[in-house]
Amino acid sequence: MEEVLTNPKLGYYINRDVFGADGDFITSPEVSQMFGEMIGVWAMCLWEQMGKPSKVNLVELGPGRGTLLADFLRGVSKFKNFTDSLHIHMVECSPTLQELQYQNLKCITEDSADGNEKKGINSTITGSSVSWHASLEQVPTGLPTIIVAHEFFDALPLHQFQKASRGWCEKMVDVTENSSFRFVLSPQPTPATLYLMKRCKWADSEEIFKLDHIEVCPKAMDLTQEISKRIGIDGGGALIIDYGLNGVVSNSLQAIRKHKFVDILDNPGSADLSAYVDFAAIRHSAEEVSGVSVHGPMTQSQFLGSLGINFRVEALLENCTEEQAESIRTGYWRLVGEGEAPFWEGPDNQTPIGMGTRYMAMAIVNQKQGVPVPFQ
Ligand code: SAH
Repeated sequence: MEEVLTNPKLGYYINRDVFGADGDFITSPEVSQMFGEMIGVWAMCLWEQMGKPSKVNLVELGPGRGTLLADFLRGVSKFKNFTDSLHIHMVECSPTLQELQYQNLKCITEDSADGNEKKGINSTITGSSVSWHASLEQVPTGLPTIIVAHEFFDALPLHQFQKASRGWCEKMVDVTENSSFRFVLSPQPTPATLYLMKRCKWADSEEIFKLDHIEVCPKAMDLTQEISKRIGIDGGGALIIDYGLNGVVSNSLQAIRKHKFVDILDNPGSADLSAYVDFAAIRHSAEEVSGVSVHGPMTQSQFLGSLGINFRVEALLENCTEEQAESIRTGYWRLVGEGEAPFWEGPDNQTPIGMGTRYMAMAIVNQKQGVPVPFQ
């Protein structure tokens, strides 16, 4: 899964813009500017709870087109004390998407006087410095940190186990005689079995007993601990939003191409692979680290609702054309609604589908900060 998505030459994310109507799938920041704006509200509230530090690392994991952060920065741009504190760090593996993020954050590169060495990159939306990194590990430590991960965890490689007569076996990918791929079961325990054992210890034995498949995501568990350690030491907090479950995930790995589900093994690297995020595993992984507290998950609908998205909709609707009003209303429904929009009068195959309950939000914060907004 990791190779298929992030192989430096042929990985799915590496050479293309995959988002939006012309791409393979659409994400909340691409649905409505209100999404990034609300994350900005969340981050600013956390910054206030942190005691308004004069320097903060703002880290986004997997920023896609950079739309979330662009809307975030535009939304908070009047709050100078906050924006002046921000040092932005984008964790992105795709050079193509890095370039798009540079454009969408309206970045400029300042050269040094002799014109040879790069001096630094700044977003002209707020003047904040921006830098890019291939992993969180490479982001400098030592400053209070706010981390945002939207639809990042669902792209991390997972391992699937299947119950067989000899016990839980990992599903592996094999090459057949005619060079196509097929799934096989491992004959003996694999390294990921250690993570399966860890995951099962956190669950009720009854919950496990009912299942014939279990997915574990070692990278998500390890990344959660890395995030938690950083926040435990440097202060701040992380917000994770994704689609998923607050419990063991059984069999959710899927491939999407041009907005349609396709076979996982069909033409790898040409379709997105993603899976449900196991929020309970994230919670337990974070709770093993000292100095942090974990909040949620709550549904995206509750999260955005409590942050006041309905006031933002009203404000936007006051000053727009009829066409824009339609797009604001459908965008709002997709972010907070559940299922098909009841007010829709257009073609059936374009009915907006609400993502408000399938997506969930969770926060990991430094214990000193108390409970973050809106998890009280
Ligand atoms: N947050 C964005 C994009 C989600 S798609 C949005 O909501 O629109 C996942 C993003 O994570 C892409 O930008 C992809 O290139 C990046 N990504 C996936 N795996 C990664 C990895 N292992 N390291 C760094 N970036 C990764």
